[in-house]
Amino acid sequence: MVLVAPGADGDRGCGPTVTSEATYSLTNYTTYARMPPMKLAIDAGRCAGHGRCYAMAPGLLEPDELGFVAERGTTVDVPAGSEQAARDAAAWCPEAAIDVES
Ligand code: SF4
Repeated sequence: MVLVAPGADGDRGCGPTVTSEATYSLTNYTTYARMPPMKLAIDAGRCAGHGRCYAMAPGLLEPDELGFVAERGTTVDVPAGSEQAARDAAAWCPEAAIDVES
């Protein structure tokens, strides 16, 4: 059960209106779908080539020929469904070289 402002749901009364749980869930889903995509910003100066990030997020981050993350110095768009792998990659970097932007 959810309370909404008067008039927000077609109600013209003077008090809050009680709506169904289904309405509340649909509203939250719409808000989530409009969120901007997550990004990873990888600091080239901090990356020391430990390789934990691309081990945690294969397919999102890749190694270069020297073992550094190939995407260092760039911002990477995180595709839908890879958000947890992106967070794990940032969390496991021992140099704190990866910032999660959302
Ligand atoms: S875990 Fe950190 S230091 Fe290691 S390659 Fe990835 S970004 Fe660079």
